[in-house]
Amino acid sequence: MDKLEKSLDAWRELLSEERFRVCRLGGTERAFSGEYYATSVPGVYHCVCCDAPLFDSDAKYDAGCGWPSYFQPVTAGALSSRDDYSHGMHRIEVLCARCDAHLGHVFPDGPPPTGLRYCINSASLRLQPRGEG
Ligand SMILES: [Zn+2]
Repeated sequence: MDKLEKSLDAWRELLSEERFRVCRLGGTERAFSGEYYATSVPGVYHCVCCDAPLFDSDAKYDAGCGWPSYFQPVTAGALSSRDDYSHGMHRIEVLCARCDAHLGHVFPDGPPPTGLRYCINSASLRLQPRGEG
């Protein structure tokens, strides 16, 4: 996959303040505040920064945590990850493999078949409903 790189200033011009804060500065939206935590519309969730497909609604489930949660990405190569030791915890941060947008974190307490919970900020996503575009 070709990497997409832009300066922080370029991203700032393209994104809303909240999306810039979450995607480019590694912020977290408040639980139950995002657009997609309770969405069940079938479709594919794309990176709001570079439009790469990241998650399918078929892998979305209600984890009750207030953020959209998925048990797997749309393809193994869609995401990259790295250790995050902020806030006195060790978590695994997940990013868009194409543009390095901060998406959220992955935890080992998800449902079968993967046992993973990708806990993702709505602000990092754009849902493309099936049958459109
Ligand atoms: Zn991206």
